[in-house]
Amino acid sequence: MSQILVTGGAGFLGSHLCDRLIEAGHDVLCVDNFFTGSKDNIRHLIGHPSFELLRHDVTFPLYVEVGQIYNLACPASPVHYQHDPVQTTKTSVHGAINMLGLAKRTRARILQASTSEVYGDPEVHPQPESYWGRTNPVGIRSCYDEGKRCAETLFFDYWRQHQLEIKVMRIFNTYGPRMHPNDGRVVSNFIVQALKGEPITIYGDGTQTRSFCYVDDLIEGMRRLMNSAIDITGPINIGNPGEFTMLELAEKVVSLVGGKSKITYQPLPSDDPKQRQPDITQARTKLDWSPKVSLDDGLKETVDYFRKRLGV
Ligand code: NAD
Ligand code: UDP
Ligand code: UDP
Repeated sequence: MSQILVTGGAGFLGSHLCDRLIEAGHDVLCVDNFFTGSKDNIRHLIGHPSFELLRHDVTFPLYVEVGQIYNLACPASPVHYQHDPVQTTKTSVHGAINMLGLAKRTRARILQASTSEVYGDPEVHPQPESYWGRTNPVGIRSCYDEGKRCAETLFFDYWRQHQLEIKVMRIFNTYGPRMHPNDGRVVSNFIVQALKGEPITIYGDGTQTRSFCYVDDLIEGMRRLMNSAIDITGPINIGNPGEFTMLELAEKVVSLVGGKSKITYQPLPSDDPKQRQPDITQARTKLDWSPKVSLDDGLKETVDYFRKRLGV
């Protein structure tokens, strides 16, 4: 097959995807503007004959010849996507238009990394793909949520209007090695705080829930979706249904790391969803996919990674 394009390929998920694709014998073109990604994540691939790296911002057109496109470019942590919210919406919307235009010209199959955030603060629990969500269009999370929702709209309109081969994946909270220590997401924050013996920062009362998927499971689901039958467009949830409160997560991390960190409470950011759990019936039946790695095992791997990275 011709080259596979991974946008956001120097990020957390993108770099793991590049690894899996190269291992499977594909040629990979990694495109990234290094806003949140880093060369460190892909340094081991630089010089590999099947790997090519291009510094490029997907809000600008891109003319390359590729056979498949994984569109992952977009900051994913609230701290980062709220840093320059206009650029976040541009990345989701203009980025999707450019990548869909590229897919249209090359007839490449294209997968969109969408998100559980399209469900907003959900009244339906767990969330099936048929749920339309409850998002605030004018809040501080909207640049991400509504940008991703608009990207989904564009994918389905290019599918209806131009018969593109599309795959829309709704990713639930994913964690693992290569998350950035200052990424701001809860798993990396808690682990880094525990390793440094600093207080664990819980936002709100810690009763809000998330469902955490280990990166290897997520990438397996992503590749299965990309290579699924043409009529499987999604949107399809990929995530681990194991649901935990942030207090439970904090306790797990502290007991795993074995430090003396105390818990401190900070204000809950506005529009922070109270609960989130994927209904993965579709992924099970259509992709024969389900997550294999438990939170305990995944956290151990992630703690080991941060120990080495921070040298503690
Ligand atoms: P990340 O921040 O580590 O990676 C995003 C990558 O995109 C970075 O390398 C960044 O430099 C790059 N990027 C950002 N804007 C760009 C632009 N305009 N042009 C080119 N590159 C750009 O985040 P991640 O966790 O690896 O997330 C990857 C994708 O998966 C994102 O689209 C995110 O919305 C989606 N997602 C992730 C999660 C999760 O829990 N990790 C959950 C839901 C959805
Ligand atoms: N585009 C791109 N690479 C390509 C083809 C298109 O980046 O190989 C971009 C280009 O900026 C264009 C957008 O994708 O504006 C949408 O393309 P489409 O063909 O759907 O619409 P156009 O705006 O060209 O009519
Ligand atoms: N959170 C927390 N402490 C932190 C970082 C995050 O309690 O140091 C909470 C946050 O308010 C949210 C949950 O953990 O309720 C998950 O946050 P994250 O940013 O990882 O993901 P998202 O909110 O996008 O699901």
